[in-house]
Amino acid sequence: MDEPLLIYEKSVAGRRGCTLPVTTRDDVEILAAIPEKYRRRADAGLPEVTEGEAMRHFIGLSVKNHHIDKGFYPLGSCTMKYNPKLNDVAASLPDFTEHHPLAPCSSAQGILQLMWELSAFLSEISGFPSISLQPVAGAHGEFAGLLIMRAFHLSRNEARTKVIIPDSAHGTNPASVASVGFSAVQVKSNDMGVIAPEAVAAVMDDNVAGIMMTNPNTLGIFETHVKQIADIVHARGGLLYMDGANLNANMGIFRPADVGFDVMHFNLHKTLSTPHGGGGPGAGAVGVTRELDKFLPRPVLEKDADGKLFFNYDRPDSIGRLHSFYGNFANLVRAYAYVRTLGGAGLRRVSENAVINANYLKALLCDDYDLPYKTHCMHEFVISGSRQKKYGVKTLDISKRLLDFGVHPPTNYFPLIVPEAMMIEPTETESKETLDQFAMIMKQIAREAEENPEVVTSAPHNTPVRRLDEVSAARNLDVRYEG
Ligand SMILES: *Cc1c(COP(=O)(O)O)cnc(C)c1O
Repeated sequence: MDEPLLIYEKSVAGRRGCTLPVTTRDDVEILAAIPEKYRRRADAGLPEVTEGEAMRHFIGLSVKNHHIDKGFYPLGSCTMKYNPKLNDVAASLPDFTEHHPLAPCSSAQGILQLMWELSAFLSEISGFPSISLQPVAGAHGEFAGLLIMRAFHLSRNEARTKVIIPDSAHGTNPASVASVGFSAVQVKSNDMGVIAPEAVAAVMDDNVAGIMMTNPNTLGIFETHVKQIADIVHARGGLLYMDGANLNANMGIFRPADVGFDVMHFNLHKTLSTPHGGGGPGAGAVGVTRELDKFLPRPVLEKDADGKLFFNYDRPDSIGRLHSFYGNFANLVRAYAYVRTLGGAGLRRVSENAVINANYLKALLCDDYDLPYKTHCMHEFVISGSRQKKYGVKTLDISKRLLDFGVHPPTNYFPLIVPEAMMIEPTETESKETLDQFAMIMKQIAREAEENPEVVTSAPHNTPVRRLDEVSAARNLDVRYEG
């Protein structure tokens, strides 16, 4: 079959299909101010098509890719839940989108009020009294949190150099540790998939700035010894950092600040529903104890004597500014809309359902795939493709085969401590029928691996492109159209 025409090939001179926004006098003045040397001289050479053809072009591209609005997306640790479209409507309201980021706080009171209330919600969810909405990714929140830990120790004239990290940690944890100039000390998870207090005690000393933990951890298992670990670390002057990426399991059930954590980041784009399949933009708020408040990124949102909100830059102990203007404000609106829609009881139900869905799916899969940690899970779980590997079928092959059924694969080969790992996070927004269907597909692939491995190792068969050279695709990315 011939390839369908690309949009450039459909171009016919003079065809039109665009709706231009209303031009204001401001726009005219801004355009007039663009220096001559930056103005376009030649035509941009864009395709000339009708609105309908432009629409089909973009929809056509969107269905070639997998996305959460198209199918199941159990990518572990990423919380690919359905993102209610209402949140996008809220983020698109002109009072938000038309607001100039340099406008004075006096004319931004509604926007600041939203940030103020969102911070209060995050405080209630996490137990941390002080929140900064500035960081724009989970990893950015880690960077902020570690800078805060360093500033805390320096304020006590201690230049501590090490941070303890479990062997199940997400790769951003050691990377953030290195970015801030600390070195990472690894502790091993025990047979139950959690960190034992003795393992922490063995490496804790006066040169350790703190420990970074994820709870539930990346195996989807709840770290049951946090309180004892907190006592050990605090006794030697260290701090506890909580990687909050897995907060979807915890809301209304477990508050990190209550058990001894000192700093945490939220992945608002994961837990509080911002579309994040394409790599961003995100929102990685941080929460801290009252003792660490003075180190938060500058400026900090405060209320003056008249109850008016303003950005306070006069924060001499702050780690400084990490992002321009208001952070990724549209994501803050989405998170706010999500929390307001569900309320406290609704958020708790989110976590309860996320946990039930994961345990249900785990039970369906554990006959056909190896389960390295035989325990209840939280919102996600890890299975291993070791049994299938004996037939020459690797986890990567299983993932490629899943694409043939219109399903996004789980996270592969992570956490690193499980061979042939598949990390599966169904999320609360999937129905029992979807989970049953996925389990059926996984069972079929397990059968194929045994009886007809070739069909799995040569997958995918039904996708717009077959198996890619992923290294070249990443290293030599080229998205230009050349006619
Ligand atoms: C996603 C994730 C991160 C990093 O968050 P980003 O927003 O992608 O920077 C850190 N830790 C864990 C456990 C994660 O799942």
